[in-house]
Amino acid sequence: MNVSAHMEAVYAEVCRRNPGEAEFHQAVGEVLHTLVPALQAHPEYAEACIAERVCEPERQVIFRVPWVDDEGRVRVNRGFRVEFSSALGPYKGGLRFHPSVNLGIVKFLGFEQIFKNALTGQAIGGGKGGADFDPKGRSQGEVMRFCQSFMTELHRHLGEHTDVPAGDIGVGGREIGYLFGQYKRITNRFEAGVLTGKGIGWGGSHVRTEATGYGAVYFADQMLGTRGQGFDGRKVVVSGSGNVAVYAIEKVHALGGTVVACSDSTGYVVDDSGIDLELLKTVKEVRRARLSAYAEARPSARYSERGSVYDVPCDIALPCATQNELGGQEAGTLVKNGVLAVAEGANMPCTPEAVEIFREAGVLFGPGKAANAGGVATSALEMQQNASRARWTFEETEDRLAAVMRDVHARCRATAETYGGTPDDYVLGANITGFLRVAEAMEAQGVV
Ligand code: NDP
Repeated sequence: MNVSAHMEAVYAEVCRRNPGEAEFHQAVGEVLHTLVPALQAHPEYAEACIAERVCEPERQVIFRVPWVDDEGRVRVNRGFRVEFSSALGPYKGGLRFHPSVNLGIVKFLGFEQIFKNALTGQAIGGGKGGADFDPKGRSQGEVMRFCQSFMTELHRHLGEHTDVPAGDIGVGGREIGYLFGQYKRITNRFEAGVLTGKGIGWGGSHVRTEATGYGAVYFADQMLGTRGQGFDGRKVVVSGSGNVAVYAIEKVHALGGTVVACSDSTGYVVDDSGIDLELLKTVKEVRRARLSAYAEARPSARYSERGSVYDVPCDIALPCATQNELGGQEAGTLVKNGVLAVAEGANMPCTPEAVEIFREAGVLFGPGKAANAGGVATSALEMQQNASRARWTFEETEDRLAAVMRDVHARCRATAETYGGTPDDYVLGANITGFLRVAEAMEAQGVV
């Protein structure tokens, strides 16, 4: 069998059967094109149509989410849950509340999640969900009523052994609390393992809040370590200023680096003396204000709505906002300014063109499947604590997160070399490592 031609045919079929889902096509294309050496070494997986099957979600749920706003008006949003793969465990992946959410976005995220979760080595399948609801500017009461309505439908698809959501863009601790409360009320079960990202006092795990950002920095540090370098004394740019970005900034500073810029969807701040994390948290998490409020409160900072956060010269870039935020132009600027490493805290923030520019320039590049796997890995640790009714300390949990990230990094390098790439080809290593683990389980479980 000509495996390259076979992968092209699978990709063409995915595009044909899922029209208009550009991000899903992009995510699938990026994975399928790297799997050729794996399928050449394992023709049995091509025979069993593993690639064809893994591109088709096991189940997709789309539902109406009606709720009443503060003025008494009825609003209607659309909810999604795509249960992509249960080959390795219950469906696992976050919920995103953002006006841009549609089926294609949820499918791209769910597809990525399959391989990311497999790469962690833990017993978790892949899924993703969300709604086209915009929490920005909504009152506490409106957010709560929306979450309650959303869970009123979603609850019938969940369970600690079935499907376990967590947060993502627009879904943080507050929303997880409302969702959990409604699940508990409807089912009359305190089923702690049905959602992750819970509060520490009621079944949550230490380090879950910090895990994605911390993990991305650990991963970047491991990549830099292969060249005898680290964060100490380095200038770093982080995009976004949400959950992932904030804790990436915290860990960069702990390792001796300085984050000189971060962004939100309207602009970015440059602060040469280093982003003041306490101020940033107050602006974004407590006041839920725009990033411009940070610059207003800090004389050393300037705020801009023109250009891009990636125009700011740096040694290391950590895209932690959203998909396709870093394109060819931004990548070119980063390379021109001498960037050493880029690690994706967000999911698919770099376009294929940007990734190619980094590859050609010899920039260390950590794809999201590997670099941001710390979030879901710690969610699995939360599930483990819930199942055993154990409670680990912050230090113990962080040690486990660090060990997972070291392991993910090492596996990516080893697999890339085994399948004909350089050890620095983390894209090849991450995709093949994740795929092989899922493929082995799927083959063993028969045609289901
Ligand atoms: P948050 O909602 O906490 O923060 C998102 C941040 O990104 C906000 O600062 C937001 O700005 C900014 N942003 C959104 N869209 C854009 C845009 N078009 N341009 C610039 N900035 C933008 O989400 P998270 O931090 O949880 O998630 C960020 C990314 O990390 C996502 O890709 C998510 O899928 C990924 N991820 C998250 C995990 C987690 O554990 N939370 C786990 C693994 C991956 P604004 O406030 O203006 O909208």
